Amino acid sequence: MSVQENISAIRATLPPHVTLVAVSKFHAAESIRQAYDAGQRVFGESRVQELLAKYAALPTDIEWHMIGHLQTNKVRAIAPFVALVQSVDSARLVECIDREAARCGRVIDCLLEIHVAQEQTKSGWAYDELCDYLHSEAFAALKNVRIRGVMGMATNTDDRSQIRADFERLAHYYHTLAPMFGEWFDTLSMGMSDDYPLAVECGSTMVRVGSSIFGAREY
Ligand SMILES: *Cc1c(COP(=O)(O)O)cnc(C)c1O
Repeated sequence: MSVQENISAIRATLPPHVTLVAVSKFHAAESIRQAYDAGQRVFGESRVQELLAKYAALPTDIEWHMIGHLQTNKVRAIAPFVALVQSVDSARLVECIDREAARCGRVIDCLLEIHVAQEQTKSGWAYDELCDYLHSEAFAALKNVRIRGVMGMATNTDDRSQIRADFERLAHYYHTLAPMFGEWFDTLSMGMSDDYPLAVECGSTMVRVGSSIFGAREY
């Protein structure tokens, strides 16, 4: 199936309130262009160098999301244009994004990445540490980031009940945190190619789909 057919097939399964992020990491600008021509405007990348190259090469009405681990020394390069940083996983990072957003006169939308998977390797806040930080003066002082919601990844396993439990935990954290924020806190980003239908069942409002759109990645 073509990129366009893949996108249509996935869109047909998503409720209207769920945003599809096409994860284009490791795929050429040419493939992104095919998705763009099929009407896709929201793309996710996981590495800054790659994101910068694609941003320069592709239409300016694309909404670029950073979904991979972001080092603070790379924030400045993407601050002028990034639409959403989904992978905010530390105080240091969110404070850096706030500073860089102020430097370019922007408010940058962010998601709080929360760790729920069984693997230690997956990134994200421990929920308790996140709560401590959200109640700190340092967090209250941030003016140029807007926290839009929560992002997370399920355990990498074939055990559907484990994946469901992970998504339900993320949804629970999302609903628990929501009252701390305003009405713009509206995004629960969870679900990838293998598990997005389950994520949507568990309340996801944003799915990040790569290989089911673009095919397997060659690293
Ligand atoms: C690569 C990636 C995805 C997409 O994964 P697929 O299995 O190809 O759909 C989603 N989210 C994050 C954070 C990723 O790094």
